[in-house]
Amino acid sequence: MHVLSIREMDPETIDSLISSSLEMKKACRSGGSVPNLSGRVVGMLFLENSTRTRVSFEQAARKLDLGICVFGVQGTSMAKGESLKDTVLTLRYEGIDGLVMRHNCSGAPYLAARFFGGPVINAGDGMHEHPTQALADAVTIAEHKPSIKGLTVAIVGDVLHSRVARSNLWLLSKLGAEVRLVGPRTLLPRHPGHLPVSIHYDLASGIEGADVVMALRMQKERMDGGLVSSMSEYALMYQVNARSLRFAKPDCLVMHPGPINRGLELDDWTADGPNSVINEQVENGVYVRMAVFAAAFESNNGKPKKSQKKAVKA
Ligand code: ASP
Repeated sequence: MHVLSIREMDPETIDSLISSSLEMKKACRSGGSVPNLSGRVVGMLFLENSTRTRVSFEQAARKLDLGICVFGVQGTSMAKGESLKDTVLTLRYEGIDGLVMRHNCSGAPYLAARFFGGPVINAGDGMHEHPTQALADAVTIAEHKPSIKGLTVAIVGDVLHSRVARSNLWLLSKLGAEVRLVGPRTLLPRHPGHLPVSIHYDLASGIEGADVVMALRMQKERMDGGLVSSMSEYALMYQVNARSLRFAKPDCLVMHPGPINRGLELDDWTADGPNSVINEQVENGVYVRMAVFAAAFESNNGKPKKSQKKAVKA
């Protein structure tokens, strides 16, 4: 099974990945058993910067005894100009069983999936999707709220450049949440008609009564400039802080996919305060990636299954 996008994933698969992530968490914390994927090797092709996602995929692989081979542009033939297709074919014929891929081009993992024999997992492609981040966010919400169905989730900030927002809006709406996109006109989708969301240019009304407020990083590296008049004005109008959070429900969850620009999207009090579940998002990222590896390899295109359960040291 490839994991390329949440938009293309059916709600049953989303539900089952959430449940499996929660089982992985329970097993890891209690010394229970998790699938053993030893004998397989996954290539980690990270062609864009990453801390959380890369480390959590590596941690997830280790917990499942899955071998890893980490690549970036530097130190590989991509620095000599080798194409993505040829890189993927090389890894395939060297016997790599699966591919985790981060790329700055939207859609690059689809190209990899065409030429690579085994499962391909999208670890963030350009401005398109970041499916495992949305799954980690859903697991975190599911641990705090009775159900995702019926929740109001406000996604605040630079939606235009955010693959996290795109994966989340599909996931949350497929599971029955109301999704609001909140931010300046220039950072919200220009043609939102096909998206299952409402659009809000005003922070207070956008987060009013919200159960979850998800702030997004200002992706300066993807901005040509001219999208906000100044970062300090953005903070004044859209920062999620104690003052703006008064409009959300008192027990609302504050989320951020990281990395945070502290003092811009969130103030310190909110990032570290009682409503914040940001560190839980990070931790759950490991369990989600374990669940995704297990699902990807369990159903791998007729290859013999090598997975068997193994006990985890608590
Ligand atoms: N870490 C997330 C991503 O890779 C969010 C961000 O960078 O703002 O998309």
